[in-house]
Amino acid sequence: MRRLRLAIAGLTACSGCQLLLLNCEDELPELLEQFEFHFFPLACSPALLEGEYDAALVEGCISMPHEKELLLELRRRSVYLIALGTCAVWGGVAALRNGESRELLRQQVYGQSPVASETFEPLPLQSVVHVDAVVAGCPPEKEELLRLLADLARGVLPVDIDYSVCAECRMKENLCLLTERDTLCLGPLTLGGCGARCPNMSVPCEGCRGPVPECNLHKALEIYEQKGFDRTTVLARLRRFCPGWKL
Ligand code: SF4
Ligand code: SF4
Repeated sequence: MRRLRLAIAGLTACSGCQLLLLNCEDELPELLEQFEFHFFPLACSPALLEGEYDAALVEGCISMPHEKELLLELRRRSVYLIALGTCAVWGGVAALRNGESRELLRQQVYGQSPVASETFEPLPLQSVVHVDAVVAGCPPEKEELLRLLADLARGVLPVDIDYSVCAECRMKENLCLLTERDTLCLGPLTLGGCGARCPNMSVPCEGCRGPVPECNLHKALEIYEQKGFDRTTVLARLRRFCPGWKL
């Protein structure tokens, strides 16, 4: 049976989503029977784009011209392009300061150094190319990544998640941190799939997986206000992982 050719690329991000794959130590031998990791600069050299790919998994947002070129090239060569992790799906923490002067930010970080790279406001992948599937999370859940690979091996794309962290949290019969502890938990607005990882440990959801489809932001903000959290605070928390939240 032909092994599927994969490209694994990292743009502006911390590499944590790619490391998640390398951390699948128990599963890697089996994965290597199914997949050829042909282009994977973080793990394999030389890293040369050659031929066509069955799928490209791309971590990170786009903030530099050469990243945009790489992304367009991966899109041209790949049957499927998958956004891996919250930075790729929504912009993530790299996009936290979008809307501020790039020149001012550059000076604050690099001073007058001439070696600073040319950058632009970080963008999610879907603002530049068509994205066939997403795996959100900062980082994503290992099981979700393995399910994606299993789906690709079967020649299909994963089914989109359409429920919130709250849905998973209630299934676990956790005490509700928002309604019973008056804590700012972003679970009602956040895409599920993590199994309510944080509320399971009595830690409020910070919204790291981005917005759940069809969430009612206005209604949620009313509830947060009743609990004593003003809109500005809630929106600022939401925008740490997804700058696209708008009223
Ligand atoms: S604790 Fe958070 S995630 Fe769990 S049900 Fe309450 S608001 Fe939702
Ligand atoms: S509970 Fe919220 S912050 Fe925690 S992993 Fe899940 S989506 Fe991310």
